[in-house]
Amino acid sequence: MSETCIDKGTLYIVATPIGNLGDISTRALEVLAQVDIIACEDTRHTGKLLSAFSIKNKTLSMHDHNERQRQDYIASLLQEGKSIALVSDAGTPLISDPGFHLVRHCRSLGLAVSPIPGACAAISALSVAGLPTDRFSFEGFLPSKSGARQSTLLALVNEPRTMVFYDAPRRAIDTIKDVVTTLGGERYVVIARELTKTFETVHSDSAENLLAWLEQDPNQLKGEMVLIIEGYKADPDEISAEVIKTLRLLLAEMKPKTACAIAAEIHGVKKNALYDIALSFKEG
Ligand code: SAM
Repeated sequence: MSETCIDKGTLYIVATPIGNLGDISTRALEVLAQVDIIACEDTRHTGKLLSAFSIKNKTLSMHDHNERQRQDYIASLLQEGKSIALVSDAGTPLISDPGFHLVRHCRSLGLAVSPIPGACAAISALSVAGLPTDRFSFEGFLPSKSGARQSTLLALVNEPRTMVFYDAPRRAIDTIKDVVTTLGGERYVVIARELTKTFETVHSDSAENLLAWLEQDPNQLKGEMVLIIEGYKADPDEISAEVIKTLRLLLAEMKPKTACAIAAEIHGVKKNALYDIALSFKEG
C-alpha cells in the first residue's frame, strides 16, 4: 500500500462497499489505517470490515441517535489536530445515513471535510438501470405504511426526472402495488437488488408486469434493493383537465395564440390541439 498523506485536523468521509469487499478503494483503506480515529455507525460492523483488511484502529460509535452529542466531541478532536474518518455500515456516509449534522457542524467551524468517494447503492443502481441519468431525483426511503407511501408517490406523479428510492424487498410487492395505483401499471420500473453480491438481480418492466414477476418468485423479496422509476412522460395528444384550466386562465388575459403557446409549453402538449379548444371556448 502506498503512503497516503493524512492531513491533520481533517474529517474524511469514507465510502465503504455495499456488498463486495473488493469495491473499497486503496485510498479508503489507507485513510482508515492512518487516521487517529474512525467514527462509525456500528463499531462491530465496521470492525469486521477493518479486520478483513487487517486494519487495527480506534473506533467510536456515531449513529442517528447520538450524532448531535458526538459532534462537539469530534469537532474538538479535529481542532486539536486529530484526523478522523467517518464511515457508515455500507456505501457513502450521509446518503440516507448519519453524518449530515456532523459535517455541517465541522464546516461551520471552518474545519476541513474531505470525501473519499466509493460505492453508493443509488448511483450503482442508476448506472445499470438504463433510464435517463442526465437529471434524476433521489427520494431516499419510501414510507413503510401504504397510505404514506401512496401520498409520496402521488406527489411525484408528474415528476419528469428518473426517480430513485431505497426500499426493503420484503415490502416490494406492496410498494409496486402502490406504484400501479398511483403512477399507473404502465410506468417503467427497475428493481436493483443485492448489488455487487452473490444474488445480484436487476430486473425492469412495466409496474404491472413487475408485480406479477415478484409474486411468482419469493426469492426476490430478500436482501436489499433500490427501486428506480421512470419519470413522467407527457403525452402530447392528451389534453387533461389541468391543461384546460391553464388555458382558460391564460385566455382571460391574452390573445388565443399566445395563451395556446404558453399552455402548450407549460404542459408539454401540442399547440395546435389547444387552438381548437380555444376556438370552441370562443364559440361556446
Ligand atoms: N449510504 C448507503 C449508500 O451509499 O448507498 C445507503 C444506506 S441506506 C441506510 C441502505 C439502503 O441502501 C438499503 O435499504 C437499500 O435500499 C440500499 N442498498 C444498500 N446496499 C445495497 C445493495 N447491495 N443492493 C441494493 N440496494 C442496496
